[in-house]
Amino acid sequence: MSVRYLMPFDTDQTEKVVTDFLVVGSGIAGLFAALEASKLGQVILLAKRELYQCNTEYAQGGIAAAIAKEDSPRLHMEDTLKAGDGLCDHETTNILVEEGPNRVKELILLGTHFDHQGEEISLTREGAHSKRRILHAKGDATGEEIRESLVRQIIINENITVLENTFVVDLLTDNGCCYGANTIHGITGKQTLFMARATILATGGAGHLFLHTTNPEVATGDGLAIAYRAGVALKDMEFIQFHPTALDIPGAPRFLISEAVRGEGAYLRNSKGNRFMPEYHEQAELAPRDIVARAIVAELHKEDIEQVYLDLTHLDVMKMRKRFPNIYQTCLKYGVDFTKDYIPISPAAHYMMGGIRTDHSGGTNIQHLYACGEVACTGVHGANRLASNSLLEAVVFAGRVIMALSDIPHLPSLEYLKKIHMKHEENHPPAIDVFISQLKTQVRMRMWEHGGISREKEDLERGIIAIKSLKPYLYLYFSEMAGIELQNMIMLAELVLKSALVRDESRGGHYRVDFTMRDDKNWKKHIVLKDEELHFES
Ligand SMILES: Cc1cc2nc3c(=O)[nH]c(=O)nc-3n(C[C@H](O)[C@H](O)[C@H](O)COP(=O)(O)OP(=O)(O)OC[C@H]3O[C@@H](n4cnc5c(N)ncnc54)[C@H](O)[C@@H]3O)c2cc1C
Repeated sequence: MSVRYLMPFDTDQTEKVVTDFLVVGSGIAGLFAALEASKLGQVILLAKRELYQCNTEYAQGGIAAAIAKEDSPRLHMEDTLKAGDGLCDHETTNILVEEGPNRVKELILLGTHFDHQGEEISLTREGAHSKRRILHAKGDATGEEIRESLVRQIIINENITVLENTFVVDLLTDNGCCYGANTIHGITGKQTLFMARATILATGGAGHLFLHTTNPEVATGDGLAIAYRAGVALKDMEFIQFHPTALDIPGAPRFLISEAVRGEGAYLRNSKGNRFMPEYHEQAELAPRDIVARAIVAELHKEDIEQVYLDLTHLDVMKMRKRFPNIYQTCLKYGVDFTKDYIPISPAAHYMMGGIRTDHSGGTNIQHLYACGEVACTGVHGANRLASNSLLEAVVFAGRVIMALSDIPHLPSLEYLKKIHMKHEENHPPAIDVFISQLKTQVRMRMWEHGGISREKEDLERGIIAIKSLKPYLYLYFSEMAGIELQNMIMLAELVLKSALVRDESRGGHYRVDFTMRDDKNWKKHIVLKDEELHFES
């Protein structure tokens, strides 16, 4: 039996707010979508915690766009397709690289200040990019700069109302249409229904499904679970990108050491101090992320150690301090001075290639429901994301969602929304004495152990059994955000493991120890999950 709504509601009884556009998420996708939507009507933007708590805030390396004279969208497309390992959608990838440069210019017009070298925007190169095409800001705080510039615009925009600590529990759907969302306040627990002519999910990724992750705590994959409960199709859920280089110091957060550090020439060294990447790939440290992550795991196993090292000491260290001030300061806080010391690192879950299946305008299989940013699967990343393409994807497709919405007459009217009757009465028994944080850790440990960087049949099956044993928690009533996050994580964990079990080949971010080769004959296709069923799409 599947769960549709986690909480009862009644549009005639529960407090109700009606608006034109409901945007869920305060990362780059949600902020950009809200600004664009505000040109068409009233917007309410929700975030489950404070606005800055999102993956966008942590993005360091930058945003990719073919703006250099020696570069072109065609070259950017070639690199993106290569990283995607045969599963990128050519149409959406073409949209990404062609529309990307103009969207980046819009960010600049909205106040984002990218780093310059003299008069020119400074461009760096990252793994698997054939050209220098990564714009960055404040050295290594690109996401923060973009987010702050967009928030400055949002605050002065009279058509946008921002509500922090407002947690979406479920989408309100009827007959294949979405009419908004049921929410609870993260602090007071107050329930409010937001009814909207169109709802845009920009809820980000699900790094927190895994024990080790570069993502902040908000990344519990809520948007994916919320959508799945509402009958939305999820696609490519087995493809998780593990970032090779997260700071690994006991007790410290798994802070990302950006790929751009390797782009500037840093080496990976094992515990003997030997550089090992040239043995694994001709692009050495700049090989695609999955290859670098697996090479590191191989070195860890070979030497039975916990970490390898990133070495910048042979570079112009003063220039590196200036280029990566955030990384420098964070490492220093934990006693590592990268101008003299090697940085201890190991891989961590970083990015979700799969997500809500969307068309080239962010549309889903539910009417009036759109998705953009990391929560969406537009198909541009295929089986593996090219570095710095996700900020670009978020801004390009958030823009496209609103272009699609400009055809406003096809949306339900505000009058209709005011009158609509919807209710869900079934109540689950209350969750009493449930140790939510321990259970979350259990899910995360299982996922790291059974669905992590290297997967195999028996292990995945064991993982599924372990996660299934937690499914009774899906049928309890949690009145607070943490419990609902746990429910979302349990649902998603099973979907990721199931997809990973079915795909018996290795491709991109999905590596099977028992099927180490890419199998184009059988697997040049996608796994789609919807309504408790799994099917394939070409
Ligand atoms: C450490 C790190 C470094 C990165 N570096 C780069 C980089 O250099 N270049 C690049 O292109 N990409 C990078 N990425 C990836 C990139 O940052 C993300 O893919 C992108 O920022 C996602 O943006 P988003 O708007 O989709 O989601 P997010 O920025 O994650 O925002 C999600 C929002 O949804 C809200 N939300 C979630 N669930 C709910 C709910 N139930 N109710 C209400 N609100 C909810 C959250 O509160 C948050 O506001 C990096 C990621 C990390 C973690």
